Amino acid sequence: MMPQVPKDGSAEVTKGCGPLIPPLSEITRPLRQQVFDRVRAAGQIPRVQLAKELGVSPASVTTATQELMEAGLIEEVSVLREGDQGRGRPAVALGVRPDAHRVVGMKLSDREHTAVIVDFAGRLIADDTIPRRPDVMDLNSLLDATETLLDRVCAKAGLSRSDLSAVGLGVPGFVDSSSGRVFWSPVLTARDVALSSAATQRLGLPVIVDNDANLVTLAELWFGAGRRLSDFAVVTIEHGVGMGYVINHRIYRGFTGLGMELGHTKVQLDGALCRCGQRGCLEAYVADYALAREATTALNWTNKEGQSISILLESLYDHAKAGNTAARSIFRRAGRYLAVGLSNVINIFDPELIILSGERMRYDYLYANETLAEIKNLAIATGKPLPPIEIHAWGDLLWAHGAAALALSAVSEDRLLPGRELAAQ
Ligand SMILES: [Zn+2]
Repeated sequence: MMPQVPKDGSAEVTKGCGPLIPPLSEITRPLRQQVFDRVRAAGQIPRVQLAKELGVSPASVTTATQELMEAGLIEEVSVLREGDQGRGRPAVALGVRPDAHRVVGMKLSDREHTAVIVDFAGRLIADDTIPRRPDVMDLNSLLDATETLLDRVCAKAGLSRSDLSAVGLGVPGFVDSSSGRVFWSPVLTARDVALSSAATQRLGLPVIVDNDANLVTLAELWFGAGRRLSDFAVVTIEHGVGMGYVINHRIYRGFTGLGMELGHTKVQLDGALCRCGQRGCLEAYVADYALAREATTALNWTNKEGQSISILLESLYDHAKAGNTAARSIFRRAGRYLAVGLSNVINIFDPELIILSGERMRYDYLYANETLAEIKNLAIATGKPLPPIEIHAWGDLLWAHGAAALALSAVSEDRLLPGRELAAQ
């Protein structure tokens, strides 16, 4: 039987078969963007090498690099020839022009706000951190905090706002980076906030927002262990549990930008109450507030109510180290739930590497050998080894670097792709 032609007149769909990939999608990017990305990734690279790596003619590379140099995005740099030891004429390579742009990356969290300024080559110019009380803020206070932080880091760098091209801003919670909306964040009182446009207006610079777990993933992808990997997961355990995922060297955000909410996948029907308002979420068993809640009940710490979560956690950790059974079983249980979450990630995505990130990772009870054994039990049994799981207990500075990477990629796409303009009111 012949396939039926749709009755709504959409004859187009009957032509051809297979995926219809738009001509300028990620797969076929314009050559000058490919050249720029390659130069930035390499640091310094001669034209000949560039042509070889991209599989195009040296003439095409020359045209593309000429355009990029005229746009002020890349420059020629002298490098010593291999084995030259300083004799003879140095070779010419291409590099990103560091002064072409400077961007700010910021991470707002319940504990502190952190910012970095980096140049167009991704090198750190200045950083600053402002500790804070873990209160939920209204939009105006959050914008005030952002502005104070921006002014402080600018002063440290000896720069003014007009020297900057964009701001990457990370907040925890449900964030759609492309629309700049924050649907829920534990640091904000209101839901569904147009944070990107509000911050852009307040700071007078284009502001790109993202979920903080995506930022730490970008930091690994741009500056860390993920630079050479095509598919990997970053699971963050801090005040909440987050995840970022890289598929084919690109961060994956989902159809509406809200994917990868590992912390809010359900691990228990009608389970513990989560900060998001629902029950049974993974983070309601693993995140620091969950551990502190457990400790208050199990160890009868009613006298400690009102103490900060980090003090409670330190105390819980000390008890566990000293052999307190109740304290140990709290970490043990959290570790088992973490194993459920991580084995689900392995079963769904089959990553090359899983990075566990966040300051809480120094609580080694959370990630003990028992947790690894549990992951093995829960991951599909194929006889193949588990993907390596690395612990990167870096702090907020790294996350802010990820925010800077977000701003850098927005600025370079803006300059490289016609029709994509960053808004700054
Ligand atoms: Zn939740």
